[in-house]
Amino acid sequence: MTAARTTHTFDGVAASAAYRSALEVIGAVEPRVADAISQELTDQRGSLKLIASENYASPAVLLTMGNWFSDKYAEGTAGHRFYAGCQNVDTVEALAAEHARELFGAPYAYVQPHSGIDANLVAFWAVLAQRVELPALQQAGARHVNDLTDADWATLRRALGDQRMLGMSLDAGGHLTHGFRPNISGKMFEQSSYGTDPATGLLDYAAVRARAREFRPLIIVAGYSAYPRRVDFAAMREIADEVGATLVVDMAHFAGLVAGKVLTGDFDPVPHAHIVTSTSHKSLRGPRGGFVLAQPEFADAVDRGCPMVLGGPLPHVMAAKAVAFAEARRPEFAGYARAVADNAQVLAEGLTKRGARLVTGGTDNHLVLVDVTGFGLTGRQAESALLDAGIVTNRNAVPADPNGAWYTSGIRLGTPALTSRGFGPGEFDRTAELIVDVLSATTPTATRDGRASQAKYVVADGVADRTRAAAAELLAAHPLYPGLDLA
Ligand code: PLP
Repeated sequence: MTAARTTHTFDGVAASAAYRSALEVIGAVEPRVADAISQELTDQRGSLKLIASENYASPAVLLTMGNWFSDKYAEGTAGHRFYAGCQNVDTVEALAAEHARELFGAPYAYVQPHSGIDANLVAFWAVLAQRVELPALQQAGARHVNDLTDADWATLRRALGDQRMLGMSLDAGGHLTHGFRPNISGKMFEQSSYGTDPATGLLDYAAVRARAREFRPLIIVAGYSAYPRRVDFAAMREIADEVGATLVVDMAHFAGLVAGKVLTGDFDPVPHAHIVTSTSHKSLRGPRGGFVLAQPEFADAVDRGCPMVLGGPLPHVMAAKAVAFAEARRPEFAGYARAVADNAQVLAEGLTKRGARLVTGGTDNHLVLVDVTGFGLTGRQAESALLDAGIVTNRNAVPADPNGAWYTSGIRLGTPALTSRGFGPGEFDRTAELIVDVLSATTPTATRDGRASQAKYVVADGVADRTRAAAAELLAAHPLYPGLDLA
């Protein structure tokens, strides 16, 4: 494995001066907020962050968000705004879109969504607008919904409410926004889901095809939050074409691996999907936000994200997206993305060789899903015991989870954040050892009626302290934002 540059390169002196001044200004108004910001840096510096959806953005990205762009309203699109004075917002929105198109090789990019959930809403409404609303307008001889008669409008609303979505099931690793009832996507669409093969934990494309043929959805959603493997998007597109569905791929989790060319060919969603949605944070290491990439036939509909489902864009975040996408276009980002995937393999092997059971038996992306029932624990107990020992993870359901979505039977681990700190194979193997040490030393406490608690646990004496000390040693060798000094 080659050593790749994975950490941020930045001028620690300049960043220190910038943050010290910022904290002084903030502290003059509400010192407790300034203190909380400083404390957050201390806390993040002092823990092993393995949350698969988190990362550390560069100071350039972070600083781009804290300025007067935040004050500007700019509804509309670059060059076509409903407000005056948007020339600088036009500049940053156009730059962010251009960098996104170049980075992902996409014909069209829309960078206004405020988050991943917004990006998905824009995509879903764009499909409804293009495939249901537009034909209805054409049939009625109208150009705009406001021109429809009340009767035509009532018919169109019924048609819009009568559509189907097929997405990956939550316990197989799908996301709430892929049609699940607590989310608006589950209320907008009649939903059905595809899961994974119970024996292997892997996606079974023949089963997806059979479900799609039977269900005939308008939209098939591919993508995940907790599936530790690559998805064959060429196969998913073939299925979508066969049943006349639009393929929307939500690459929020693995966008960094697409940008860094770890996921290519059939595993790169951009050439295969009609629409790709994403967050700009997570493995892509940008600001909190979302964006949408689309094939030309959906570009106009996606462009109407505002006012369709979004209000005014966040110009300061669009500016930060432009900076992050520019960073991701640099050659060193490909080294980072490769290291994220290589480190995940090392973490998976390190856990497996020490007796942990992984869903699907391993990983070929940035995340690992550990089934902790082998340690006699629920996900909630494992998450809490690891947190006590300075290891930050999140509990996650495993396929057909016997403990349900609250307690769960798994923990999800991801490598993007610690790889940004410069962790390599040696550190990830040691991290696997620490995790197995803690889980092996944890036991559920008994409830009053003698059953094992799903939430309470005890950790053998000394294990949490010993693990914290070992974690501190690893972290000290790879400081977060080296040279950034707030004192
Ligand atoms: N899509 C996927 C696959 C996700 O994992 C997430 C967040 O975890 C989202 C969408 C939502 O992103 P956000 O939290 O920015 O709304």
